[in-house]
Amino acid sequence: MGAGLYRGRFAPSPTGPLHAGSLVAALASWLDAKAHGGRWLVRIEDVDLPRCVPGADQTLLQQLAACGLVSDEAPVWQSQRSSLYQQALKQLCAQGLAYPCACSRKDIEQALHARGQDKPRHGELVYPGTCRTGLHGKTGRAWRLRTEPGILTRWSDRRLGPQQQDVYGEVGDFVLQRADGLFAYQLAVVVDDAAQGISHIVRGADLTDNTARQILLQQALGYATPQYLHTPLVLAADGQKLSKQNGAQALDTATPEAALAALNQAAQRLGLRDCGTRDNRGVALAAWIEQWRATLPSATT
Ligand code: GLU
Repeated sequence: MGAGLYRGRFAPSPTGPLHAGSLVAALASWLDAKAHGGRWLVRIEDVDLPRCVPGADQTLLQQLAACGLVSDEAPVWQSQRSSLYQQALKQLCAQGLAYPCACSRKDIEQALHARGQDKPRHGELVYPGTCRTGLHGKTGRAWRLRTEPGILTRWSDRRLGPQQQDVYGEVGDFVLQRADGLFAYQLAVVVDDAAQGISHIVRGADLTDNTARQILLQQALGYATPQYLHTPLVLAADGQKLSKQNGAQALDTATPEAALAALNQAAQRLGLRDCGTRDNRGVALAAWIEQWRATLPSATT
């Protein structure tokens, strides 16, 4: 594969500092890019502003740098890219694929209850399609993507193998722009991955379930679909996904030794050899690139 064709990225939401789980995704995406002679980009996903913590973006970038993970191009911030998302939404509207929705969460719950379908999926409600046929005199609050019944979206994950999802049945028409005016993660991530020419996405397995929705959006917008690899999660002591909510510790990257220890832990989670303290960061990263190349299903371009 020619160098330069591979473009990967790490796209953290600045809701807090790096933790053990996010470093696994950062390291894996960096190793995969480097193992393929590609470029690795950092994108700060601060589209959901109310969830972002002021200063967390700079902390994340500093922690990554302390681990030797530096973006090959200037990082971008989603909060500065709304016009791109607006343009994409406009395109989807013009194609008749996006429609305004007047439903509150309560409206959706009631509609589902009336159909005897009130079991949330991962805490999310399958949209019952109330506004698909029009607003019926109500005011639009959000915008949704129109999904098609009876379509299985299939894709192959480089680690998890073949995947499929009936987005219409399992998720329903999903939100592109929220009632508060903010663009949804699904739209922003798809627009940015395409705008930045991302060819390979390597990210945590907690995001696997979003992939079919993102592929539908790529198809609707006429974008290429990248290759996907979802990395193993780091679980908290309670068996739940490690997150800021269940007390994920901010990684200590204050000294070279601490950064190397954090990297070693992340590498182990990826099935790579622990380099201990005998190597410096650069030597360890170089050794992991070689191991990554040897052990993981290779990406095709
Ligand atoms: N910003 C998302 C997160 O931090 C990741 C998005 C992605 O990698 O697609 O969970």
